[in-house]
Amino acid sequence: MAKLHHFHGGLVLDGHKAESLTRGLRQASLPQKLILPLRQHIGDYNKPLVGVGQRVLKGETIAACSSLICAAVHASTSGIVSEISQFPVAHPSGQADTCVVIDVDGEDEAASADIVDPGTLAPDEMIQRICRAGIVGLGGAAFPTPPKLSRGKSHGVDTLIINGVECEPYITCDDMLMRNYAAEVIRGCGYLQKILTPRKTLIAIEDNKPEAISAMSQALAAHPLAAAEIIPVPTIYPAGGEKQLIQILTGKEVPHGNLAFDIGLLCQNVGTCAAITRALETGEPLISRIVTCSGDNVVEPGNWEIRLGTPISHLLELAGGYRHGDDAYLVMGGPMMGFALSGDNLPIVKSSNCILVMREETIPHSPGYHDECIRCGKCTEVCPARLLPQQLYWHARARAYERTQEYHLFECIECGCCSAVCPSQIPLVQYYRAAKSEIRAAQKAQFKADRARARFEFREHRLLVKKQRDEERRRLKREALQKKPAQAVDATTFADPVQAALERVRERKKAAQEETR
Ligand code: SF4
Ligand code: SF4
Repeated sequence: MAKLHHFHGGLVLDGHKAESLTRGLRQASLPQKLILPLRQHIGDYNKPLVGVGQRVLKGETIAACSSLICAAVHASTSGIVSEISQFPVAHPSGQADTCVVIDVDGEDEAASADIVDPGTLAPDEMIQRICRAGIVGLGGAAFPTPPKLSRGKSHGVDTLIINGVECEPYITCDDMLMRNYAAEVIRGCGYLQKILTPRKTLIAIEDNKPEAISAMSQALAAHPLAAAEIIPVPTIYPAGGEKQLIQILTGKEVPHGNLAFDIGLLCQNVGTCAAITRALETGEPLISRIVTCSGDNVVEPGNWEIRLGTPISHLLELAGGYRHGDDAYLVMGGPMMGFALSGDNLPIVKSSNCILVMREETIPHSPGYHDECIRCGKCTEVCPARLLPQQLYWHARARAYERTQEYHLFECIECGCCSAVCPSQIPLVQYYRAAKSEIRAAQKAQFKADRARARFEFREHRLLVKKQRDEERRRLKREALQKKPAQAVDATTFADPVQAALERVRERKKAAQEETR
């Protein structure tokens, strides 16, 4: 058993896990409509491949990758594409995005799958198949899995970490996945081992999930993997954060500004492992996931395996509806890191691990004002990223964004620990999120301006080079003309060409007559 370490800060929170674990995993019925956003991942937009009126089959690709950091989108059941337009999607900004709407025909007819024995595939072929399946990290970040694996493969991975630490309150979808699909998760770890050839594999599960630990241990015993072990880790929030989990398992701290690859580590979520197994063994792309629906304003909390694109309202119907009326407060994700939703008409997407349904009065709303910072230092004590949250707050509030970056703003994992302990009730994370999005917007605008300037400078350079070439050509011509023997310009040079030709014919005739004499 590996020796465990501690990370700085963190909080012990009331888990609220039991509410959604009293019933087993349920299969969600098909909705009447699916709304599939063309971008459900961190990265670039996809190109739509279907048109309105077209019939699509379950598993058919409806939007293809446009770049390396991208993930294809597939129809999650059969039906007719009825619309491709802007719809509100689940995003902290509440923005709309391009979505494909499918009128579900209820037949659930699947497209033919390209199935081969995964044991015969080379690592690069496996990555290509994972790419075609549109798989992203299912722990919530939704970063496309293939570029992560390619990068890990080229960097070299010493330790593969499988993350089954679902540390945020209320969320139990990974726990349910490990209880029900432990064998798929373990086989997925095996495929990752084949791709990345790590020296060891650590499968971390929080110690408040004994059923999951038991199911995964049995699956590992039935399908042994080289140098792999299951490690129960203490229940402390946010132990499931990538850098915090790395520290618990290895004692190593990922330096500021670096990624796990840089110290020979790669983390994957348990849900991603199961999705990889499905893609490689059955050819099924990522068209469904397990979602927790919980909170104090839903009748029957639980976990459902549900098709992507299903409206949240359909999931709420399956969960018995609102317990205290429909003026509920909906959150995508958990109470610490999730974000508020504008309504229940939004679709479930690849990153939707939990829909939290709360009563308005049980949500700790910002009163719109807060007390001043009293420099108590509590936020610094609990920050798992070892940041100085009060300094970040001062600079974010003053919009001194360069200073926020000096204090490593982008290392903040937005875990919310600092806000939770602040006696002045300062919504610290909101300040950090706002600062990050303004910095990103400014960087994007700067990138566009730099690109436009580079294009302009390139065009100016091209025109200058052309002008210089033309001048050089003219100069060479002038010099060539000057080098010709100084002879009088023949009057015929500029004569009428017809007259000149007649003159030449006359001269030839005259010469012929003289010869015959
Ligand atoms: S916890 Fe709140 S009041 Fe205390 S130092 Fe941090 S920001 Fe200031
Ligand atoms: S939200 Fe950011 S600053 Fe606050 S405790 Fe978490 S990592 Fe630290």
